[in-house]
Amino acid sequence: MKSVFKKLSYVFFPRRCRLCGEVVELDKELCWDCENINEIKSPVCLYCGVEEDKCTCKKKKSDYNGIIAPFYYEGNIAKALHRFKFREMTELADEFTLRMYNAVCGNYSEISFDFVTAVPLGKKRQRKRGYNQAEILAIGIAKRMKIDYNTVLYKAIENKEQHKQSRRERKANVFGVYDLVNNADVNGKTILLVDDVKTTGATLGECAKMLKLYGAKEVYCVAFAVVSK
Ligand SMILES: [Zn+2]
Ligand SMILES: [Zn+2]
Repeated sequence: MKSVFKKLSYVFFPRRCRLCGEVVELDKELCWDCENINEIKSPVCLYCGVEEDKCTCKKKKSDYNGIIAPFYYEGNIAKALHRFKFREMTELADEFTLRMYNAVCGNYSEISFDFVTAVPLGKKRQRKRGYNQAEILAIGIAKRMKIDYNTVLYKAIENKEQHKQSRRERKANVFGVYDLVNNADVNGKTILLVDDVKTTGATLGECAKMLKLYGAKEVYCVAFAVVSK
């Protein structure tokens, strides 16, 4: 009898994994995959966000000073991001920002940030989705770090969706599309720039380049996941 109720309750009030959003048993916080997941461990290559012994980037320089993430973009982390981004499961942000905050504390402990900001979405896409997933993460991280969140960038040009571009096209696709919002003060600032996922780093690089053009001192990035190859 009990198991019937249990089964029914999954259907009507499914409990979901805090990290990836998969349905789990009622007494579980995380699904089996997430309980056994490998977080990215220090030392990390700050040029690409991959663990140093797995990095193949040959320290390819970008306009940002570092990129880190708690996870690689694979398996249930990829599913988690999809649910967060395209299926409006914004409640996952709580666990995402906790893991990202831990990565910041572990890898950027020496850095004193002035504020946190996010990679902006284009107006059209934000209206369609109803939220900017990177901004939700950035606000959550800022809260955990007890520093300000500031919107300082906006998308001046609507480009094609980055995830639909080939690796080669990505840099050209984001070139010159971001600009500084009116009255944003980035001069001399050390900024933590947040996005949901880092693939080639073209988007984060372009945003960092803009912030530095307007006088930012250093721009460090954190994503929820990095593509490892
Ligand atoms: Zn899970
Ligand atoms: Zn690397």
